Amino acid sequence: MLRKAAAAFTQRIFGGTCLLCRGNAERGALCAACDADLPRLRSALCPRCALPAVAGAVCGRCLSQPPRFDATVAALEYRFPADVLVHALKFRGELALAALLARLLEERIAGDPPVHLIVPVPLAKGRLRERGYNQALEIARHVARATGARLAPQACERARETPAQIGLPLAERAANMRGAFRAQGSLDGATVAVLDDVMTTGATLDEIAGALKSAGAAHVVNWVVARTFPPG
Ligand SMILES: [Zn+2]
Ligand SMILES: [Zn+2]
Repeated sequence: MLRKAAAAFTQRIFGGTCLLCRGNAERGALCAACDADLPRLRSALCPRCALPAVAGAVCGRCLSQPPRFDATVAALEYRFPADVLVHALKFRGELALAALLARLLEERIAGDPPVHLIVPVPLAKGRLRERGYNQALEIARHVARATGARLAPQACERARETPAQIGLPLAERAANMRGAFRAQGSLDGATVAVLDDVMTTGATLDEIAGALKSAGAAHVVNWVVARTFPPG
């Protein structure tokens, strides 16, 4: 009785544990209402790039300029509150969020063909030093455990440092990333999932898929937590 009263008091003063509304998160990082409100992607998307496409067919852009990756699976649309969660993991060191974001991705890839390797998008060295962790790797650890695929962060590394993509015009992003990644070892015939927190233009993922395929990967699929949609 006393303990219950104390718990109620604590919740009133400090709030619950839901990362978004401070409500009562029974299990995990979000309360049931916030979890249900997440912008999960379920509508018709291009299987190649995960942008909206009529009847879920390959979109015109992917048909005219096929990317080097074969498929993209995205769990959420990158808008509120998905952006809050991604930011909190990336910039505020809320590492507990990696498990939540991994679970959302796992929901989406359940039933998909298995992959041999999971390769998290490598962080620039300077960034890694500053932040102390790579958020894509933190998410990938959980997804590897859940799917049984091998986590292979060493399979792809940065070949050179690149200026941050943020703020660059779309057309310059691809040029900025050209030759930025190098695959390590032989990936003969492997099916590889490249994991990242956010996919924007896909320039980074296209470059990584190219590097992995040069090293022999047969099939490259992007597993991304959140996908930005162009306005309109
Ligand atoms: Zn909540
Ligand atoms: Zn497409």
